[in-house]
Amino acid sequence: MASLRQQIATTALTLTKFRELMRRMQENRPHDDLSLVKKAYDYSLKHHEGQTRASGEPYLVHPLQVGLVLAEMKMDPVSVAAGLLHDSVEDTSVTIVDIRKEFGEQVAHIVEGVTKISKIDFHTREEQQAENLRKMMLAMVDDIRVVLIKLADRLHNMRTLEHLEPERQQKIAQETLEIYAPIAHRLGMGKIRGELEDLGFRFLDPGGYEQVEKAVDARRGPGEAFLGKVQQTIADKLKEAGIQARVESRIKRLYSVHKKLQRQRISADQVYDLFAVRIITHSLQDCYAVLGIIHNIWRPVPGRIKDFIAMPRPNFYQSLHTSVISEEGTPFEIQIRTDEMHKMAEEGIAAHWKYKDGPVSAQDEQRLAWLRQVVEWQRDVSDPNEFLSTLKVDLYPEEVYTFTPKGKVVVLPRDSTPIDFAYTIHTEVGHSCVGAKVNGRMVPLRHKLHSGDIVEILTQPGHKPSRDWLGLVKSSRSRNKIKHWLNLHQRERAIEIGRKLIEKEARKYRIALKEIKDEDLQKVATGYGLGRADDLMAGIGYGKYSARQVLARLLPPGATPSMESEIEAEGLSAKPGAIANVVRRVFGDHNAITVKGQGDMLVYRARCCNPIRGESIVGYITRGKGVAVHSVNCPNVTNLLYEPERRIDVEWARDESTPTSYPVKLTVFCDDRFGMLKNITGVIGDAQSNIRNIGAHTANSQASVEIVLDISDLKHLEQIIAGLRKIPGVHEVQRLQKI
Ligand code: MN
Repeated sequence: MASLRQQIATTALTLTKFRELMRRMQENRPHDDLSLVKKAYDYSLKHHEGQTRASGEPYLVHPLQVGLVLAEMKMDPVSVAAGLLHDSVEDTSVTIVDIRKEFGEQVAHIVEGVTKISKIDFHTREEQQAENLRKMMLAMVDDIRVVLIKLADRLHNMRTLEHLEPERQQKIAQETLEIYAPIAHRLGMGKIRGELEDLGFRFLDPGGYEQVEKAVDARRGPGEAFLGKVQQTIADKLKEAGIQARVESRIKRLYSVHKKLQRQRISADQVYDLFAVRIITHSLQDCYAVLGIIHNIWRPVPGRIKDFIAMPRPNFYQSLHTSVISEEGTPFEIQIRTDEMHKMAEEGIAAHWKYKDGPVSAQDEQRLAWLRQVVEWQRDVSDPNEFLSTLKVDLYPEEVYTFTPKGKVVVLPRDSTPIDFAYTIHTEVGHSCVGAKVNGRMVPLRHKLHSGDIVEILTQPGHKPSRDWLGLVKSSRSRNKIKHWLNLHQRERAIEIGRKLIEKEARKYRIALKEIKDEDLQKVATGYGLGRADDLMAGIGYGKYSARQVLARLLPPGATPSMESEIEAEGLSAKPGAIANVVRRVFGDHNAITVKGQGDMLVYRARCCNPIRGESIVGYITRGKGVAVHSVNCPNVTNLLYEPERRIDVEWARDESTPTSYPVKLTVFCDDRFGMLKNITGVIGDAQSNIRNIGAHTANSQASVEIVLDISDLKHLEQIIAGLRKIPGVHEVQRLQKI
């Protein structure tokens, strides 16, 4: 039993808080009847009596603070009363039935929802977590006030998190960053989200937090002086133009600075828009007028002007953003928005809950529609983990709203492509997607979708997903579907390729693959330490083993390929002995490139980039055509990365005794003047190079000259390009990869 003295102190403290709450309610909602709030206070005072929090404060302080946050959000008396009672069922002997009897159906319903969410442990197995999130979503759809109270509850718990054990701190902070802050963001509640994120960051990663804080603090003094000057300049110019607006400035929130550092892999002193100015106008027209004025004072950074007024973000955030550079060269961000937009950005969905019977806005309807849709989705998803990943992606606001031709909304992460869209419709639609129409026009599959796009997917039965798609899709859902399919089918394809390579090799000995006995293949596979013959074929397909060496083990001793059949196998209908010439013609010198550790492989220079001696090169095992050698700078090489098992190291042969030459195509951009061609051919002749072909286009006294010339190696080429660039009137010399 607490001493009388303690009781008096407690009563005095909570009464002060309660009066503050009532004052705020009266300010924000002067016409409301607050008796329900008073009653809820008395009730929880009675039932939480004697309880204390980890901080040592009376427990009642917590529901009171939650109520105060709700009052500041201008919430109705039902919400505030429910906020005061939110822990009563969880932590006292009170039941929902009691609450219903005392406070009516609405309050009881909300308290029940909050109690349910509180019981969810988001740190159980992923499966369980998905189910819990689903429950929370259901509660949200039911009455958004449940979530607003839960957010207020979480905010106060985060503000007082220092009193808990470090382990609990970590757990709660992580949950805040992963679940509550994104939900606040999704509901457009920028203010609460910002505070939740900073607090979450501070407790989850104290070291990182301190580092960012230090770096930001070091720039705070000069930054504030700078912002003061900027604010004054803007205020003066706006006055001149006769525009009434409020000018605010701030240094960015630590968590958003931290995210930026992570995203761009830079240090804190390189974050250029650490400083931000906000201009809040009275009208939409003024926003654009102010933007014009700003760009008149400072130079805008290209590509950084964003009109979220015309194109609101998915959470209905509206504002104009621009980055400009000060006279001293300091870049900073300016946001311009109206009072109404500002309120929406800070309070989001809560901004419309001012009047309990007020009309629900179209935006709120859409927000609720989003929630309902998420819940609906999970019904189709049998795998809870998949639901979770879908949801996690979906909680973040970087997304676009697209439509099926029938008007069904498909929400996708930003930068999604038609492939993402197709997989969202159905897995099979995704697999067999061959093209798409956006707003009635054909687009490539890499086309980025925008909000409002109407997307029609074109499918072809039997069409298969491609590994390249992994580089095109944005949602984790599509990625998983594609990966799953590839894992299943990739091996099949490798086996098929391996079989073909063996077959081709066998033809040289006039043997058909059929003639090779299964048990012989099995024996060789065992010799390679493999379980099955298919594993051996897959190994050949992946380029792990050479088909020739495998075949050598299968043949009777002494078997030799006939020259004729060898030529036939290569598909060359030439006389015996011609093979070497053919190879030389195609490859320049067939010795010029060797494959590391595989001296006997067929090698050729890829036609897309035609690498020349001295260039960095990479090999790629083609389907039955040998090894294609690309320049590492070849754009196709990036695509080859999708099948890393087909990449192979190649190098230029050390033997340089046989002179080789490669045709290389150059374009010289120059003035169209007398004697230019003579200068160009002079440089090439001096470098002992042979011109194979030359042509020129002229227009407006400018010329582009295309030359195909013989080059012995990279050094030779560089020497010629340097020589050409020195010719007066030559602006640029480019090498064309394709000849
Ligand atoms: Mn609570």
